Amino acid sequence: MALDIVMLGPPGAGKGTQAARLARLYGLPAISTGDMLREAVQAGSDLGQRVKAVMDRGDLVSDDLMIEIVRERLVRDDTAKGVVLDGFPRTLRQAEALDQMADGRNLVAIEVAVPAEEIIRRLSSRRICRDCAAIADPETLAGGGATCARCGGPLVQRADDREDVVRERLHVYERTVRPMLDYYRARPSFRTVDGRQPPDRVFDAIVEAVERLTAVGQKD
Ligand SMILES: [Zn+2]
Repeated sequence: MALDIVMLGPPGAGKGTQAARLARLYGLPAISTGDMLREAVQAGSDLGQRVKAVMDRGDLVSDDLMIEIVRERLVRDDTAKGVVLDGFPRTLRQAEALDQMADGRNLVAIEVAVPAEEIIRRLSSRRICRDCAAIADPETLAGGGATCARCGGPLVQRADDREDVVRERLHVYERTVRPMLDYYRARPSFRTVDGRQPPDRVFDAIVEAVERLTAVGQKD
């Protein structure tokens, strides 16, 4: 049976990196709604321009738009064995829509939990390359480096990583995500892992949680 892994957690919890690793481990496509939205913005399409205006304000893209984007992605052939979802669902309505899309598939939800102050510290100190969008290595920044290790481009702060915007993002996250987390928490197919650990430890904890959850599923 197809295995869909839903990665939950606040912006800056490291979900994207973990989702990509998990996808490689299980041979599943990682579907990052953040990447899909950023690609639309860079393409400069009509949709992309609407998305950009929303993201620059620190707001979230509407449920209808997100559900449509994900629905189109999930009908592609490469999702037959399952997917790793990062950034979706983000609201109760999106979670309910995903349940309809994933009918008959095995779905597990993993929350990477990180406290708000730690998120603010992580995101507001982050810098990206203006030219290639690579995220600067923290050691480069600590050493006073001001250029991209990959292409030499200047390092800048992403508009939605400014501290005031991060606080607003977390506020929006808390308000919209709480009902969705409660929706998943009530299920046996939900686990929380401690996202304050080093990334390798977080990954091990996620894999262990997935293995346990799917072992339970097979017995049923
Ligand atoms: Zn660069």
